[in-house]
Amino acid sequence: MHKLQERSLLREKADGRKATGRYHIETWGCQMNVHDSEKLSGALERDGYVRADGREDADVILLNTCSIREKAAEKMFSELGRFVPYKRRNPELVIGVCGCVAQQEGERIFRRSDVVDFVVGPRATATVTRTLERIRNGDVQARGTVDTEYRNDSIRFPYDEIRREGVGTGKAFVTVIEGCNHRCTYCVVPNTRGREICRPMTSILGEVGSLASQGVMEMEFLGQTVNAYRDEDGNTLADLLPAAAEIEGVRRLRFTTSHPAQMTDRLMDAMASASPTVCPYLHLPVQAGSSEVLKRMRRGYDREGYLRKIEGLRRRMPDMLFGTDVIVGFPGESEEQFEETLSLLNEVAYDTVYSFAYSERPATKALELDGGMPQAEKHERLRRLQEQQKTLQERRNRQWVGRDVEVLVEGRSKRNPERWTGRTPENRVVNFDGEAFPGQLKNVKLLDSSAFCLIG
Ligand code: SF4
Repeated sequence: MHKLQERSLLREKADGRKATGRYHIETWGCQMNVHDSEKLSGALERDGYVRADGREDADVILLNTCSIREKAAEKMFSELGRFVPYKRRNPELVIGVCGCVAQQEGERIFRRSDVVDFVVGPRATATVTRTLERIRNGDVQARGTVDTEYRNDSIRFPYDEIRREGVGTGKAFVTVIEGCNHRCTYCVVPNTRGREICRPMTSILGEVGSLASQGVMEMEFLGQTVNAYRDEDGNTLADLLPAAAEIEGVRRLRFTTSHPAQMTDRLMDAMASASPTVCPYLHLPVQAGSSEVLKRMRRGYDREGYLRKIEGLRRRMPDMLFGTDVIVGFPGESEEQFEETLSLLNEVAYDTVYSFAYSERPATKALELDGGMPQAEKHERLRRLQEQQKTLQERRNRQWVGRDVEVLVEGRSKRNPERWTGRTPENRVVNFDGEAFPGQLKNVKLLDSSAFCLIG
């Protein structure tokens, strides 16, 4: 018997239960995907599966894919190629492809890979365990199924079934809305995740209460357009935030990702009224600093409109820090328009910027736009933008040195396991020495800084 399999079986023996099987999930991409994998783990464990130590000893492997990066499908097929030896060694092994590439590629996955047993899109996450059960019970019709239809219960996953990775660190993600009704010309999300569907506020508050009673202090509400949240009773994020902030034990609330066009005055007022529990950090993707480019991206706001939102937030919450996403080299972006993005980054003075060179995505409107530019030029713009931002972040982070901050400890630092790592309410990453444990709120004195973190 393989050593890892032996270890898992010993673990089962210690638990005093016979496992249905061992599962292994590989997750790519955003927090939505990380959280979908948490839901999948919870559902599998409810059905008696235990977590495998890795691909080697798994009976079930799920690949939770992301299509946001360039050539996502090619990367997935090359990854699936690596599964061939496992499938040969264990013909009973069931491999499922989930996530946005599953939604996007559907049937094509079976044409290009013979190791895959089933395909489930993010709109149908709730069906994974049913499909698995059928396959493992020998139902030949279940093999080779593609399920990409919308399932209402994918968002209404009972929260007590979610296996949360972050609970031990005092923080957890909570889905409030799935899908997106916008049609940004570069984006595949509306194709892969479908239209918006909102979870009832009572269900969300129930989950928040349950998490808080387990010692979770920080919750992050998730959605592709989280501030578009509106449940069937008309409750919006402006109602949800203050209600969640009232729950005993809730110390920090965050939400991501917000759309600038839906950052209403009412929501800003609600954030201010529920601060400091609503943390003084907001990720508000701008994507470009030129109104012309924003129009071609079909973002639904212009430069001035975006800056008015920032100003409205700063007026209500003067300590608020901002993060954003930027795409450079969008089709037709002139040098002047690119420089407008540089000037906007300086004007807002973001503390975090995720920047990307534009790359084509299947079945998006941007493919029809003229003015594509050579890769080298896009990457040169990206380099200039990142250099400018790094200098700004270094300067901004230096201003923190000498202050005492409250850090929610996440665990050991990946770069230096001697140190602990965690975040301040402003979402600043702090790496520090000393005694701590994951999930602890710790006061840390800041002694040094870099462009990307603070050191205490
Ligand atoms: S708002 Fe635009 S970029 Fe964001 S998920 Fe929707 S379509 Fe994509």
